[in-house]
Amino acid sequence: MAPATDDAISALDALRAEVEACTLCELRVTRTRSVPGEGDPAADLLFVGEAPGYHEDQQGRPFVGQAGKLLEQLLATIGLTREQVFIANVLKSRPPNNRDPKPEEIAACQPYLWRQIELIKPKVICTLGNFATKLLSGDPAGITKVHGRPQPLQVGGHSLYLFPIFHPAAALYTPAMLATLKEDFLRLPELLRHAAPGDEPAAASAPMPAPSPGSDSAPPASAGAGEAEQLGLF
Ligand code: URA
Repeated sequence: MAPATDDAISALDALRAEVEACTLCELRVTRTRSVPGEGDPAADLLFVGEAPGYHEDQQGRPFVGQAGKLLEQLLATIGLTREQVFIANVLKSRPPNNRDPKPEEIAACQPYLWRQIELIKPKVICTLGNFATKLLSGDPAGITKVHGRPQPLQVGGHSLYLFPIFHPAAALYTPAMLATLKEDFLRLPELLRHAAPGDEPAAASAPMPAPSPGSDSAPPASAGAGEAEQLGLF
């Protein structure tokens, strides 16, 4: 992992300040604090969850409740701490009563996530649950169908692998899902080893949802299925 450049660190700091002051959607009214995301600015592994919950909204930090504890335990099984990865969400503000994100909220927030990806340049984006997976893959296929299957993805000319897994909050109370989540997680080290920078996964063209109005920084991304399996990774 190459260290983050000073420019990337400054840009991520500026982005954090922008998210903290964001008024792009109605969630600005009901949130306590926005939750920009945190971690190593040069992380090889970026986790993308759905949206902040109660504790995240109170503290301004991602995954600090029960789901976060499970995520930290899962990270420990592959020898990583949360400080060694980057953790972000599709939405940076909590929806009231943890309701599902609305399409217009996802569209308004999307450019922030795209800029994070461009600056961090992870080798692997691990999407947690349906909302993050569908947004990043540009495919409506649900997490039950696609979990545990790496997909090549390009974001702003940067090649990486998308690795969808179940959301830890969903797995907390469903033992079968938790077992699958643990199994999928254990595949991450091998994927990280193979997903070297400069790899050019032959991604089929599958344009992402259009960026929200006013965004000039949300690059097109594309995804192709099956490449990692063809490479014999899994
Ligand atoms: N669930 C999420 O999707 N994100 C968080 O930050 C916390 C819980």
